[in-house]
Amino acid sequence: MQIDNWGDKILNGDRRALARAITLVESNRADHRVQAMELLDYLRRAKRQAIRIGLSGTPGVGKSTFIEAFGMMLTGQGLRVAVLAVDPSSARTGGSILGDKTRMERLSRDKNAFIRPSPSQTHLGGVARRSREAVTLCEAAGFDVILIETVGVGQSETVVAEMSDLFVLLLAPAGGDELQGVKRGIMEMADLILVNKADGDLKPTATRTCADYGGALRLLRKRPQDPEGFPKAMMVSAYEGTGLADSWTQMQALVEWRRDNGHWDRRRAQQALYWFDQEVRQALLARLESPQARAAMAALSDRVAAGEITPAGAAAEMLETHLGG
Ligand code: GDP
Repeated sequence: MQIDNWGDKILNGDRRALARAITLVESNRADHRVQAMELLDYLRRAKRQAIRIGLSGTPGVGKSTFIEAFGMMLTGQGLRVAVLAVDPSSARTGGSILGDKTRMERLSRDKNAFIRPSPSQTHLGGVARRSREAVTLCEAAGFDVILIETVGVGQSETVVAEMSDLFVLLLAPAGGDELQGVKRGIMEMADLILVNKADGDLKPTATRTCADYGGALRLLRKRPQDPEGFPKAMMVSAYEGTGLADSWTQMQALVEWRRDNGHWDRRRAQQALYWFDQEVRQALLARLESPQARAAMAALSDRVAAGEITPAGAAAEMLETHLGG
């Protein structure tokens, strides 16, 4: 398909064109890559922006239940919602698959929702780029809200935070000492902590957990991008639907404040720079993986080991001669 034709379809909200474009950006083929870049460049002109919400939580906290309930609430208000996932785990057997449609059955049937599971890539860098480009495609397709789901493992939260406008941490009610279980860095990333399952027998524990985290958040240094009272902890029940509307109100308040204060645009610009840097680094690393580069590395390694060349000298030769430095 012609790129401009394809691009126009996406801009008109054609879901099949969007799905195909996401498949294109997920491809490793060099010719697909060229097309993907052309398409993304074409779509840039639309200058559309969704509210991108990163959502993290360990398996079992209720991410898919929450996304389904929250997503249905938003589509009920006439908003168009896309759900994407960033799942860096290479072995995706057994455990739940993020963004799997069977986990959000009602939402996946909703014509105002679009759900796409995580691209299957074995390393986070690959997943990150593809997800970020999928976010851009969904934005161009006119979605109002993009939920980007991830699990609380390793670097995936950082990656999701770098492609989101808001970062939400979903937690389950738990005893006090669990507080330490959430890494400080993740707490610092969160704009909103939602304690899910605040219903039935779990309600008292949820209330305590929410108070604990609220207290912990107040101890963090005030961030310039936050209005008074943020980041904050709130209770929700994805089952009962309680707290969902309130959490959306809070998210909108934060978005509005950041837009008015210029943080929104600054953050998006910073994110673009972050991804530029990542792209350069990854492209350089990828060059090291070519058969020629591997052979050159192996040959130079032998010479380094034999003391025929210094490590720095070998590195310089590698970069200049074999990586076109
Ligand atoms: P995920 O692995 O984070 O996506 O979690 P799921 O959405 O699959 O939910 C994990 C478990 O928690 C399931 O058994 C859900 O039924 C349950 N669950 C999810 N949300 C709620 C809630 O609001 N209240 C209660 N009581 N259970 C919930």
